[in-house]
Amino acid sequence: MDSWSAFRSALEAQLPADTCSTDADDLATYGRDWTRVFAPAPKLLVRPRTTAEVSTVMQLATAHKVAVVPSGGRTGLAGGAVAAKGEVVLSFERMRAIGPIDALGLSVVVQAGAVTEAVHRHCAEAGLFWPVDFASKGSSQVGGNIATNAGGVRVIRYGLTRQWVLGLEVVLPSGEVLQLNGALEKNNTGVDLRQLFIGSEGILGLITQATLKLTRLPGKTDVFLFAVDNLKAVLKLFSTARKGPFTLSAYEFFTDKCTARLEKHRGLRPPFEAASSHYVLMEVEAADAGALDPWLQKLFEDGLVRDGTLAQSEEQARGLWALREGISESLSATGLPHKNDIALPIEALGAFCTELDSVFSTRYPGWEICLFGHIGDGNLHVNVMKPEQLTKEAFWEKTHEADEQLFSLVKKYHGSISAEHGIGLLKKPFLHYSRSDTELALMRALKAAFDPLGILNPGKVL
Ligand code: ZN
Repeated sequence: MDSWSAFRSALEAQLPADTCSTDADDLATYGRDWTRVFAPAPKLLVRPRTTAEVSTVMQLATAHKVAVVPSGGRTGLAGGAVAAKGEVVLSFERMRAIGPIDALGLSVVVQAGAVTEAVHRHCAEAGLFWPVDFASKGSSQVGGNIATNAGGVRVIRYGLTRQWVLGLEVVLPSGEVLQLNGALEKNNTGVDLRQLFIGSEGILGLITQATLKLTRLPGKTDVFLFAVDNLKAVLKLFSTARKGPFTLSAYEFFTDKCTARLEKHRGLRPPFEAASSHYVLMEVEAADAGALDPWLQKLFEDGLVRDGTLAQSEEQARGLWALREGISESLSATGLPHKNDIALPIEALGAFCTELDSVFSTRYPGWEICLFGHIGDGNLHVNVMKPEQLTKEAFWEKTHEADEQLFSLVKKYHGSISAEHGIGLLKKPFLHYSRSDTELALMRALKAAFDPLGILNPGKVL
């Protein structure tokens, strides 16, 4: 018997009958994430229900040298969960238990497959919040959020996922189970292995369970939309907002190229009479009611904004948020975007964008660039839309060249080639723009220490 057949029959002998699937639709669905660059081609889907079952899968995978790709909500945008080379996809969707809230320690234990929004709803009943929040929260899973150190729209207020994980349970490629840090807030006992797994994109171990750190639900929030003239004004407004009479909980921007696509796909548009080239969505908490009006008035007096609106109801607030959160989906629905997710030091953003403009307009005249992002964190989503006349293949080839230009510029301004999407397969060729040779060598050494056979999410990141 060859090693694959031996692996299959051992799995079937040791796990419940419905754990494995080779159904063609299942393989196509579970073998891909939201990137549409790689054709999925896994050989097998396994859906374990417990940590012990995950451990069994990994023990057998190690014994028979079979590659395993972990799979969460598959909302990733870097190909980190793509299985395109006959791997086993290990889905966590049957491991979605959410434990009782620890109201004193402000934590909750959840399995890796718990859906982000379900965790939010569970915590909200106790007036608490796990502040990892983004447009795909309805399908993204906690394990994937942690494995990719997910960002999103609240980072400016709360920081990345990394800050909101107290403990992890991890299954190593050998099948051994690690319990890391439990529910401890303070634990100063050497290298924090938990943090190594956070953001490692499933190349070191499989996160099966996490103890999440919670905070209180935000109080009353106000949501504004402003129309401004250019990126410079976006940044100027940001520096004013940082000192405003409130706590800033989101500061997002998008351009008219994004709103045009949004209107085409969802029929939504900014509620202003005149069109503008740049828009800012701002959410604030605990605004000082007496000080807010004069602050707003001054924005107009100083000519910092062309127009602005404050949501008067929850429904209006949701409507303004839909303008921002509907963008990514609208770009994909109305064309083929090549997505980039970069970070720059905030103070470098102005100069960076001016240079970016001139690079694109001289080298790729007529290309449509849709810019949006979490500008308060220095995080830009640069979406290059495929021109009608180019074939898909010619477009990918051109964007690869364009990326070299873009990332050289990112490097020049001391930025990062991936702010929140991760490296996966898509950004792997460019990792050297953000990490030194020594750093890459250390990462490879870590990979070899945790996964000496190289069976876990092979080919990703490194
Ligand atoms: Zn984002």
